[in-house]
Parts: sequence; structure tokens; C-alpha cells
Amino acid sequence: MQCDIAIVGAGPAGLCFARALAGSGLKVVLVEQAAAERLADPPDDGREIALTHHSQRLMAKLGLWERLREEEIGLLREAKVLDGDDRDGLPFTSEEAGKDNLGWMVGNHAIRRAAWEAVAGQPDLTLLDGEKVSLVHADAAGAVLALSDGRELRAQLLVAADSRFSETRRAVGIRASMHDFGRTMLVCRMRHEVPHAQTAWEWFRYGQTLALLPLHDPQVSSAVLTPPQQEIRRLQAMSEDEFNRDMATRFDGRLGAMTRLALPVAYPLVGVYPQRFVATRFATVGDAAVGMHPVTAHGFNFGLLSVDALSQRVLAAHRAGRPYWSDAVLHSYDIEHRAATRPLYEATRLIAGLYGNDRLPARVLRKFALGLGRRAAPFRRLVMAGLTQDGGDMPFGGVRRAWVRLRPR
Ligand SMILES: Cc1cc2nc3c(=O)[nH]c(=O)nc-3n(C[C@H](O)[C@H](O)[C@H](O)COP(=O)(O)OP(=O)(O)OC[C@H]3O[C@@H](n4cnc5c(N)ncnc54)[C@H](O)[C@@H]3O)c2cc1C
Repeated sequence: MQCDIAIVGAGPAGLCFARALAGSGLKVVLVEQAAAERLADPPDDGREIALTHHSQRLMAKLGLWERLREEEIGLLREAKVLDGDDRDGLPFTSEEAGKDNLGWMVGNHAIRRAAWEAVAGQPDLTLLDGEKVSLVHADAAGAVLALSDGRELRAQLLVAADSRFSETRRAVGIRASMHDFGRTMLVCRMRHEVPHAQTAWEWFRYGQTLALLPLHDPQVSSAVLTPPQQEIRRLQAMSEDEFNRDMATRFDGRLGAMTRLALPVAYPLVGVYPQRFVATRFATVGDAAVGMHPVTAHGFNFGLLSVDALSQRVLAAHRAGRPYWSDAVLHSYDIEHRAATRPLYEATRLIAGLYGNDRLPARVLRKFALGLGRRAAPFRRLVMAGLTQDGGDMPFGGVRRAWVRLRPR
């Protein structure tokens, strides 16, 4: 089999990248190990994705946003970061940002379904589902993929969108630094007595991190816990009543009685950043490019940035009759995406490290950092601009520009 672009992985990033190439005339093959029926109706995996304004625009451009149902979209008007027993916290408000909202909350399964619907029937796109890539080779002549059913697929360009533990990225020899945070995150959709007022909380308690992400229903939120490792199994084994009582106590009764609406799902926390996003005839997008710790809620937001940055370059080269697989095209993407993601990736590692540490110096530093943030309106505005920024610039544009100037070479 022969195509122009082969994409491995039909997760949200792979599907969005395929969709971004629609109408270009490029022949695209998408290889996914799961069955098409599962992609059309993805199971709820408990993840609720916080989306920035820039991501919302990109999803609208790709035809995903219009496919989301009203009840699948939650509005984020305020966010509060609390430390220890603090009750006021560091506030981020849509009012201060000068916007109607700071962002949106959408279930990962809803995003996956909308992305699947957006590519359905797309001309020049072939889906090979239930198919695993077993061997990969890429050199100046092109990319060759061996599929699990014994077929061979040849492409001008190979794009890996096969998760943060991308086997395709490893197969082409790109090293990645992996940071195991030694913690597991537990997510669970909960109904609660007191309305959430469209406010997200991130609460760094001693011994555990808690977050509450407001969903469409005013009394339903996604509860996110990062308790000590030994508690995870205990929580998962609890009866529904025990779990509900435990959660209400953990959240200090601030939301009244709580009732779980789905089984809790556990995610081990591992951050991944590869040495390069590209190689000869090869590029990574989505988590295969940057695997973020969810605490700063940027994994898929970065995934959309990668899709946009790579697809724009590929399409521009193709339209101009230049090789869209050239090193120049791929390196320009590498520089752009590194600059857009590296500062927040590193900052997230620091934040997760600092707030996952209960020793006295870390506690003091945390209090100091939050107190400083509370008083420093410019800092809060910078964060909020990152969430709500308009125009073609990327979120955290100022940070990105500073990084381009300062990055190690
Ligand atoms: C608890 C949690 C909360 C999160 N919250 C947020 C948030 O608030 N905001 C945000 O922006 N992001 C968030 N994220 C991150 C977000 O969920 C991910 O960035 C996003 O889902 C990654 O999409 P992807 O398509 O890159 O990868 P994946 O969703 O991992 O998809 C990879 C696909 O590749 C396929 N595949 C893998 N290997 C092969 C192979 N060899 N052959 C064929 N197919 C293969 C898999 O079957 C899968 O379909 C969160 C993540 C977690 C865990």
C-alpha cells in the first residue's frame, strides 16, 4: 500500500491531524489498533479536558466544536488555587481576564467522538482499524510501516500520534526523557449538594492534591485526587457509600454531600518530553510529542497546537509544490512546538514537585508563592492571557518568545 502521509494512532490528536489535511488532495492513511466501532462510540474514560480559548477556536476550525452536544460543554468562569488549609486561595476570574469565561470543560470521550465524526467520509482518508504497527523504517527515500496483518504501508511522511509512550517514536530512534512523578491520579465524576458556580479548584492539601472541575450540570464536577500511592487501591475498593462519605470529608464538606456518578479511574503520572519531535520523514504530534502532567491541564491543548503547527507547514509546502516531508519543513515545526511547550512542561514539573512535597521548606515556599501570586496582579494576568488569548498567537505567547531567545542550543 502507498500513501502520502501515514498517521499512527486515531486518538484525538491523530484524528485532528487527519482532519486538518482534508481537502488538500494528499492521500492519508490512519492506522489504529482499536476497532472502528470503539472510535465511533468511545467509552467514557473519566478524563475531563480543560480547553483554552485558542483550543476552542482550533476545534471550531477543524469542525469538532459544532459536533459537541450542549450538555457536553462546561463553562469555566473562575479558578482557585488553594494551599493547605487556606480558604481564599489564588483566584483567577474571567472578569479580571476581561472575558466571558476562562475556558471550557469537555469530556475526553466527547472530544474523541466529535473528532471521529469530523473525519467520517473524508475523501482521500483511509482508516486501517484493528491494526497495530509492528515495524517502522524511515530514511531519505520515505517511510515504511509493517502492519500486524503482514501488509506493508509506504508513505512520504510518517506522523506518530500513538500516545506519550509512542512505540513509533522509539522505533525511529528518538530518545525521550520520562519523568515518573511516583503518583497516580484518580478521577471520578461526582454530584454534589452545593453548586460549583463554574469554578475550578486546585487544592494542594498536605499529603494529597485535590481538584474539582465544574461540568455542564451546576451540581456535577469531576473530582481529581492524587493521594499517596497506598490509598489508591483502598479508594477503588470502597463501596459506593463509603466512597461518597470519604470524598465529602476530603473536600472538607465545602460542596455538601457528594455522590459518585461513575467508577473512579486511575492514571499513573508520567511526563514525557522527547529530544526531538521530528526525524527524517517523521514527525510526532499530540502526546507522542509532549506528554504533560495533567496538573496544568495542557496535554490536549498542546496536542491541538502541534496539529495546527505541523499541518499548516505541510499544507503550505504542498500548495507551493515543495516537498512537505523535507527536513526544512519538519525542523521549522520542531522549533515552533518546542518553544510553545517547553517552558510550561518544565514549569509543570516544578509545580508538581513542589506541591507534591510536604516537607517544611516546600510548604513555606508554597505559601510564599501563592501569597506572591495573590498580590501580583501581572502574574495572574499572564496566566489568564495564556488561557484566553485571541488571535493567531499561541497561548503563553510572551513566555514562548522569551524561551525562543533564551533556549539552550
Ligand atoms: C486524568 C487526565 C486529565 C487530563 N486533563 C487534561 C486537561 O484538562 N486539558 C488538556 O489539554 N489535556 C488533559 N489531559 C491530556 C489529554 O487527555 C491527552 O493529551 C490526549 O488525550 C492525548 O491524545 P493523543 O491522541 O495524543 O493520544 P492518545 O489519546 O493516547 O491516543 C493514542 C492512540 O494511538 C493508538 N495507538 C497506540 N499505539 C499504537 C500502535 N502501535 N499502532 C496503532 N495504534 C496505536 C491508541 O490505541 C490510541 O487510540 C489529561 C490527561 C489525563 C490522563
